[in-house]
Amino acid sequence: MQGNLAVAKSAVPAAKTWAVVKADAYGHGIEHVTRAFQAADGLSLIEFDRAARLRELGWQKPIMMMQGMYDVADIESLVRDDLQPVIHHVDQCRMLESTPVSRPLAVHLKINTGMNRLGFMPSQVSEIYQRLKSLSSVRSVSLMTHFANADSNGTRPDVAAQIDAFQRATAGLDAEISLSNSAATLFQPQIRSDWIRPGVMLYGGAPGVQSALSLGLQPAMTLKSRVIATQSLRAGDSVGYGSLFIADRSMRIGIVACGYADGYPRLASTGTPILIDGVRTRILGRVSMDMLNIDLSPLPTADVGSEVTLWGQGLPIDEVAAHAGTIGYELMCGVAPRVRREVRD
Ligand SMILES: *Cc1c(COP(=O)(O)O)cnc(C)c1O
Repeated sequence: MQGNLAVAKSAVPAAKTWAVVKADAYGHGIEHVTRAFQAADGLSLIEFDRAARLRELGWQKPIMMMQGMYDVADIESLVRDDLQPVIHHVDQCRMLESTPVSRPLAVHLKINTGMNRLGFMPSQVSEIYQRLKSLSSVRSVSLMTHFANADSNGTRPDVAAQIDAFQRATAGLDAEISLSNSAATLFQPQIRSDWIRPGVMLYGGAPGVQSALSLGLQPAMTLKSRVIATQSLRAGDSVGYGSLFIADRSMRIGIVACGYADGYPRLASTGTPILIDGVRTRILGRVSMDMLNIDLSPLPTADVGSEVTLWGQGLPIDEVAAHAGTIGYELMCGVAPRVRREVRD
């Protein structure tokens, strides 16, 4: 994770970095990020309990709450842990206006430049900015937006259109700005912004179609298991629920202790790659709750106890995700609590 952070920082050397650690650091565990992301200038997430935990773990630099407060009661946490809320809705302005605080907050005004999820319309920005600036509960106001298509050329709204809208909305406002996610950090490093907000790339996931390895990123997570049984199929035999895979010849298969209850995608079907003792083979038939089936044809020596890599070192998570019709982000975030974690620096 440190090496991937270095890739992000060197892509945009002039910018400071919010390392995005939402969703329990994309499934990697919030406990490790204060050390792994020591070189970041701030951490950014949405969960209040995890933000408090970051302070307990000794993180003293800024923390951004990317959805801000959900109700007035959250303001107490913001003040106690000195968290910097994103303000994306006028209700949040009203909460700040009606709540006296013992220590003023740094806030981030979010602008909707075309993503159309969160943020104020460009025409509202200068009024909201002045309104926040005038509050005694606010010590600084930064400006931010989020790109919808930084990973794909030609899809609208494109980055240029969003930047244009952002610049028009914020002309004349003297504030720090934060724009780029991983895709923009890697593919649009010329964007001028005081802060970048990379997430998935820090964990070695690809933010677009280009492979993570070709972008210089290393997987932070390797999901492993073992073969716990083998079977010999004859032509016409099937394996698993629904008998989706039917052997067309005699073959040896392995049963691996990993299923959708561990976070392996049930939609991965026959042909999804998997490594046994470092050799690439394929899964067969339907993934079940606690097990999946693999082809041992290329591995005559593999047996009960053989080590299996579901994704990570040697097998990009994005490749497995593509076979299941999803993205590496979702697989990372979905690793189940029952999977034992081992952390290496
Ligand atoms: C999740 C998120 C990011 C990080 O996105 P990646 O694609 O993982 O780099 C940045 N900014 C905001 C507002 C986000 O919600």
